[in-house]
Amino acid sequence: MFNEEILYKVTKPALREVVHQYKLLQRNDPHVRERCLSAFTRTMGLPCCHHIKQELSANPNWKLSVADVHAHWFYNHPDKLATFRDGQPIHPHTLVQELQIVHGKGHPLGTWNGLSLSSRDSRLPALSIC
Ligand SMILES: [Zn+2]
Repeated sequence: MFNEEILYKVTKPALREVVHQYKLLQRNDPHVRERCLSAFTRTMGLPCCHHIKQELSANPNWKLSVADVHAHWFYNHPDKLATFRDGQPIHPHTLVQELQIVHGKGHPLGTWNGLSLSSRDSRLPALSIC
């Protein structure tokens, strides 16, 4: 169903979606008999069961290729991995700019139920490690 190249270039969730479409076709799901509106292909960027059926009718040895998959699903899509600039590798830390400190809603660090977790706090039971 897949050529070897696609296993290295396309993410597994995308391949799972295509396998699901293929299984719909195999079990002759009622969805396969409905008219194709290309909604799946337009929204997912992957061939739908109708497209797979059409391809297999034309060529029983058809396999999904990279050209059948939207670049969104590629491992090395430029939007996902901006690790090259002007052809040169860049360190990911240089991409992080103007960090903001976010304070969570939980207890302050080093406290529990309003008690300090420092070893000098006499209100906490002493622990001994054997
Ligand atoms: Zn379709």
